[in-house]
Amino acid sequence: MQTKAFATQSPTTPFGPHSIERRAPGPEDVAIEILYCGVCHSDLHTARGEWHGVQYPCVPGHEIVGKVTAVGAKVTRFKPGQLVGVGCMVDSCRTCPSCREGLEQYCEGPVGFTGTYNGPVGGGENTYGGYSAAITVDQHFVLAITHAEKDLAAVAPLLCAGITTWSPLKHWGAGPGKKVGIVGIGGLGHMGIKLSHALGAKTVGFTTSPDKVAEIKRLGADEVVISKDEKQMAAQAGSFDLIVNTVAVPHNLDAYVSLLKRDGTMVLVGAPASPHPSPAVFNLVFRRRAIAGSLIGGIPETQEMLDFCAKHNIVSDVEIIRMQDIENAYARMLKSDVKYRFSIDMASLKA
Ligand code: NAP
Ligand code: ZN
Ligand code: ZN
Repeated sequence: MQTKAFATQSPTTPFGPHSIERRAPGPEDVAIEILYCGVCHSDLHTARGEWHGVQYPCVPGHEIVGKVTAVGAKVTRFKPGQLVGVGCMVDSCRTCPSCREGLEQYCEGPVGFTGTYNGPVGGGENTYGGYSAAITVDQHFVLAITHAEKDLAAVAPLLCAGITTWSPLKHWGAGPGKKVGIVGIGGLGHMGIKLSHALGAKTVGFTTSPDKVAEIKRLGADEVVISKDEKQMAAQAGSFDLIVNTVAVPHNLDAYVSLLKRDGTMVLVGAPASPHPSPAVFNLVFRRRAIAGSLIGGIPETQEMLDFCAKHNIVSDVEIIRMQDIENAYARMLKSDVKYRFSIDMASLKA
């Protein structure tokens, strides 16, 4: 099925209309009309060739929501007309220990998981993401959406920004009695604030943007720290159980490690194109502090997060854009000028 999409042909080519082939649904497949797709900073890293191994043409987009148009004979959980989502993965080996645990993002199979765009992480055929009119996905990687249809544009970012913050918050036990910091209040960070607050943790936002302070409190933060202000940073020393760092550029991690309690952990989810400066060892050893990483989230935990958000009326704060405005959206994202996620209305692509 020829499908309308927006693609970039090289790291320096602007996005433009492109046609891609989507497979007709096989027995295990769900065919989806894409209604909205969120714009993740990973889309930008990939389209601009900042990460290793990008294949072109590149059609990014892994915060996909839409309606089922057809299902294969073996599909029982979905039916035409149903609201569904697709996140960062469309396949994995299904048999390795990580896949069996529902942690498909850590698939240990020969090529790892298959990204919704830019193909298998271990190399192989390219895949095309959500900057397109439709997608066909194996039912295992399709999520059920129970939010109201009117909220759909704002649900899209849960499929990456939501799960990428939910997974470490849950894994490292964010909840009542815990103090959690979220660093960088963009797409991921604003979801981190909402989810940490909803899980019952004392939540502190760290931002470089003084104009965001009041809004970050409205999102659910108990306190907001301007990370460039050394006095404000020093006042938080040694007090955090967990810090989730979403910043997309290399920076000094020591400033945040110093804010952890004994046995506290800072989880890096931001994925800059080049490494952070090496952290100071003494800062870690004296309080048995840890720096960890976390990648998106597995399919069962993504469904758990979507259901939690539907129950607690949590969606993303979005600015809806046309597909044709993507270059401008990227330029604004690089200036931290997005409140707090762009969501593309795919009707603009079909027009
Ligand atoms: P985003 O919307 O651009 O947000 C990043 C935020 O970082 C900005 O809004 C800004 O917040 C802060 N920031 C920007 N420049 C900074 C600087 N020079 N120093 C300190 N802070 C700065 O990006 P996103 O979509 O949330 O993605 C963030 C990162 O996570 C990207 O690298 C992305 O690829 C990565 N990611 C990783 C995973 C994973 O599985 N680990 C999944 C999705 C995305 P303030 O204005 O509040 O400072
Ligand atoms: Zn993403
Ligand atoms: Zn696997």
